Amino acid sequence: MEMDIAEMLRNRGLKVTPQRIAVIRVMERGGHFSGEQIFNELRKTEPSISLSTVYNALETLEKAGIIRSFEAGGKTWYEMRMEPHVNVFCEDIGDIIDVDLDLENLQKSLVEKGIEPKNLSVIVYAECSKMMKGHQVRQS
Ligand SMILES: [Zn+2]
Repeated sequence: MEMDIAEMLRNRGLKVTPQRIAVIRVMERGGHFSGEQIFNELRKTEPSISLSTVYNALETLEKAGIIRSFEAGGKTWYEMRMEPHVNVFCEDIGDIIDVDLDLENLQKSLVEKGIEPKNLSVIVYAECSKMMKGHQVRQS
């Protein structure tokens, strides 16, 4: 997936900073990241970067609707995938996997109750080693 990150930031009314670009570069590979994971990834090429800089960039990107976050397993996870899907927290491996399910009915039911979801992700806790093989699962 090739996109102009600088242009994406500008389109959302954000200043283009090397930190924001670097965070998106890591996250656009796909999957779910904790702040520490992104920090450790960026530190390899940018040893002077601080954890608080990473969290500031994440907060700004989330407010701009470029990424989103959720809590699972005592951690905050960030992802770039904005369309509705199920995030499964695998208790046995301590990681998140995406499962594509049709959440349209859930979305409709919420709207019927007067709740307009701004972003929709369902978080499920499971032991992934017990998952049946052959199910469509996108490993993060
Ligand atoms: Zn996800």
